[in-house]
Amino acid sequence: MCSGRVDLEFILRAFSNGMDGVFIGGCRLNECNYLTHGNYDALNTVLLCKRILAHIGLNPERLSIEFMSSGEGIRFTAAVDDFCKKIKNLGPLYKDAELNQKELKAKLQDASKLVPYIKIVKREKLAARLENEADHDGFFTDDEIDRLFSEAVSYYIDPEKCQACMICFRKCPVEAISGAKKQIHIIDQAKCIKCGTCFEACPPRFGAVKAIAGKPAPPPIAQQERAIVRKSG
Ligand code: SF4
Ligand code: SF4
Repeated sequence: MCSGRVDLEFILRAFSNGMDGVFIGGCRLNECNYLTHGNYDALNTVLLCKRILAHIGLNPERLSIEFMSSGEGIRFTAAVDDFCKKIKNLGPLYKDAELNQKELKAKLQDASKLVPYIKIVKREKLAARLENEADHDGFFTDDEIDRLFSEAVSYYIDPEKCQACMICFRKCPVEAISGAKKQIHIIDQAKCIKCGTCFEACPPRFGAVKAIAGKPAPPPIAQQERAIVRKSG
């Protein structure tokens, strides 16, 4: 119902599923019936996503947001017509990035996986109310987004410190952590969405979950080395 519900992940998924363009229609700014003014959230999401598209090598013009009331049918059809013409002129999505469809899909899926992380890191900006149109262009910058991707945090579990308490295992929202009682836990980097929940949840007296920025996490220890042998007495 509200354009504020259009998650960054929805947009990236649409492109990943082969859409050549995404158009978002929101209510007029400052005319929201609710205190939340979700259309400002949608605007910020679009400004951020345009930079992400550019980072991937896609033309940011493939994403558009327009604000109008439900009584402005003529304006709506004109906006959609203009957008469709623009997208037809741009041609198929994969031509932008000089990648084949499979490579482009993989890049978009990698960006999608970072969405929870991006939303945490950029939460203050995403909640800002940009009332002045002149502020839209430079609100997010290409450098900022390049850094966001190159410095993305990875989480891993230090096998020397893990006590197999299973707290992180239970709290991970995407089942990216493998483990069992008396088994050192490990994080599957392909599944991890970098939400940081395990980092917060691991008891400080263990401090086994580590965060590393700008480089990949070390590989997990081998299955046969994961048993924890506690000394008795
Ligand atoms: S950061 Fe931790 S809790 Fe979050 S998805 Fe990755 S492994 Fe799971
Ligand atoms: S919360 Fe920490 S100590 Fe407990 S299983 Fe996870 S990494 Fe190991």
